[in-house]
Amino acid sequence: MVYEPEDRDAVQHVSPMHFTQAYAAIYGGDYDGEASQDAHETLNQTLNRLKDEERALGNTSTMVESVFQGIVFNHFTCKRCGHKSNMTDDFMELGVTMPGLPSGSAKSRGGHVTLAQCFDTFREQEEFPDRKCRDCSAIGGVSKVSSLGHVPSHLAVQIRRWQQVVGRRGRVTFQKIDTKVNFPVQEVFDLSPWVSDAAAASAGDLNYELYGVVEHHGSGLNDGHYIAYVKRDDGWWEMDDESTTRVKPGSVGRANPYLLFYRKG
Ligand SMILES: [Zn+2]
Repeated sequence: MVYEPEDRDAVQHVSPMHFTQAYAAIYGGDYDGEASQDAHETLNQTLNRLKDEERALGNTSTMVESVFQGIVFNHFTCKRCGHKSNMTDDFMELGVTMPGLPSGSAKSRGGHVTLAQCFDTFREQEEFPDRKCRDCSAIGGVSKVSSLGHVPSHLAVQIRRWQQVVGRRGRVTFQKIDTKVNFPVQEVFDLSPWVSDAAAASAGDLNYELYGVVEHHGSGLNDGHYIAYVKRDDGWWEMDDESTTRVKPGSVGRANPYLLFYRKG
């Protein structure tokens, strides 16, 4: 399908070059626009660096955490003795997996799935063949299901499209899964199916609205091209290098997302 933006009118825009140059001057790295950076890694580094700077000022609770940080509850159960244990993980961006992908298999597939199906993988039972039960010491009977223990006001989601493949002689490479993920653009995204009962009781409304999308084009982990979609008060805009174009929500929905940004409605 040929992509035809609805509106190619020239618009004033601010080049991100000053930002990337300042970023490189402070933190190092190659952000001159020539080298490829992984968008998720850059987001993660940026949020963590901002958090560290706030901490260095003596702030125990930081603004970055209050906006982006959530918690995943991991519930482990031993099938031999029934012993249960919990572990929590903090996240700044929530990584979700493609559904129905057997572990170890990383064939890039066509077709499409929904974002909700990606979130459903949280609730699927995951087996841990090497994990030892703390109670009965049996190995291999432990399984895990997860839920969201806290959803931040701004939820950054990473679709895990890079699958590790172990080839001949143990050589590890990454392969992209290009399956289309359909996601709510104008409709709200209700997170309540994946939130723990306790968190849901205190969280109130769990309807989130989309305000940003990052799409990766290309097949390689270290190459390709990113396009971003951002929602402002006057609608959606597509950011493609130096081209800034107003687009309709339908165009945003046709993007195949790598990163999604939702905020509490
Ligand atoms: Zn046990």
